[in-house]
Amino acid sequence: MAGQDIFDIAVVGAGPAGLITGLSCAASGLRTAVIGPPSGSTDARTSALFGGSIDLLKAVGVWPELVEQSAPISGIRIVDGSGRWLAAPEVLFRASEVGIAAFGYNVPNAALTRVLEGMSRGRLSRVICEGVRRFEPRGDHIALSDGAGHEIRARLVVAADGRNSSARQFAGIDVSTWSYPQSAIVTTFEHQRPHRGISTELHRRAGPLTVVPGKDGVSHLVWVDTPDEAARLLALDDKAFGQALNSELKGHLGTLSGFSPRQSFRLSGQTARTLGKNRVVLVGEAAHVIPPIGAQGLNLSFRDAATVAEVAAGAKHDGSDIGGDATLARYENARRTDISTRVFAVDLLNRSLFTNLPGIGLVRGLGLFALATSPALRVQIMREGFMPSASTPKMMAPSRTGETVGRSLTGASSEGHDLGN
Ligand SMILES: Cc1cc2nc3c(=O)[nH]c(=O)nc-3n(C[C@H](O)[C@H](O)[C@H](O)COP(=O)(O)OP(=O)(O)OC[C@H]3O[C@@H](n4cnc5c(N)ncnc54)[C@H](O)[C@@H]3O)c2cc1C
Repeated sequence: MAGQDIFDIAVVGAGPAGLITGLSCAASGLRTAVIGPPSGSTDARTSALFGGSIDLLKAVGVWPELVEQSAPISGIRIVDGSGRWLAAPEVLFRASEVGIAAFGYNVPNAALTRVLEGMSRGRLSRVICEGVRRFEPRGDHIALSDGAGHEIRARLVVAADGRNSSARQFAGIDVSTWSYPQSAIVTTFEHQRPHRGISTELHRRAGPLTVVPGKDGVSHLVWVDTPDEAARLLALDDKAFGQALNSELKGHLGTLSGFSPRQSFRLSGQTARTLGKNRVVLVGEAAHVIPPIGAQGLNLSFRDAATVAEVAAGAKHDGSDIGGDATLARYENARRTDISTRVFAVDLLNRSLFTNLPGIGLVRGLGLFALATSPALRVQIMREGFMPSASTPKMMAPSRTGETVGRSLTGASSEGHDLGN
């Protein structure tokens, strides 16, 4: 294969993190391939994406298609349902308090990956295969193959292949992994009373129960509970499940109906010891896994994506090695603090619910009391928690590398292609 066939970037994994990274890199003028199977459309989850993530979706050109399917989040309410002796007051974060109409939007995951996937095929080389099976270091690039003899090469590999990332393993990056005695049940439902764009997070002893506003008046549920209770809830019929949910919500949304099939997710946490090594950088759940509290996971991944695009485009512009140690160090420095503080804060908040450490309920209660009574503290938390910006890639003229590279590798159309020989 000729030298010009070496990509700047090969993103391994076409989940939401991989696709947005690929599109950000392509929009920054980097010759990019995204490799992996298309994400299924069966994911029943939605993602509350804050302003910085929405800006990135706008920058890569997919927001007009997604906004139709998304609902604005104009407020976030935290209710203490822990039943501890110090009943903490309710805290309501209003976007209007910080001068904006909405913190962000609640976007269905299936629509997000479908729209990103559609855009990828016009903007970059979308390599569809079962997965990358082999990584081979070759000095100034890495060769990736699917185990069937097909290969592409890239200066920098972005591991976006999820929590059990094989690209991360190839790079020799260790992780710390831990589990929580919790599972999350997700579903979508209709309700009698309007949600008014407010997301409600009920902090219970077993875990948070979150109801996020959806399009056309529906809401999306993330109910975290013990694995045994989650299994019981999953087995209930819709009527009994609706009654159980209504009892938790204390009738807040009126009569509940129209539940979509429920899905369940076992919760765990994971962090990588370093974010870049041996021409590989980590994004998304390959870099960090956190429980669904405060909607931080995918928002972090979007900031990973924007940062990869920025540092790699910077290296290309300067004529330095896109996958070299200096680029990896720049990525690590730019992302480490954001990731570490979010993983720490979400873990602490989650543990403060189910842990029986003496005094922890008092600390939580006092924290919520301070938030309920101090507008200045609320504003600070809103800015830190829901308003961090993802730097958006400097848009280049839309490239048609998908078509060109697709043909040169395999003779296939831009609808996607196998790994080239
Ligand atoms: C119940 C729940 C609710 C959540 N709600 C929110 C929310 O409201 N807001 C928010 O910001 N975050 C939320 N999150 C977090 C968010 O869903 C995850 O961060 C996100 O789905 C992870 O995306 P990813 O692309 O990193 O990983 P994945 O979705 O796991 O994608 C990895 C991809 O890599 C592919 N792959 C694997 N191995 C290979 C290989 N060898 N070669 C090629 N491809 C490979 C897989 O097929 C897959 O497509 C929530 C999480 C849960 C569990």
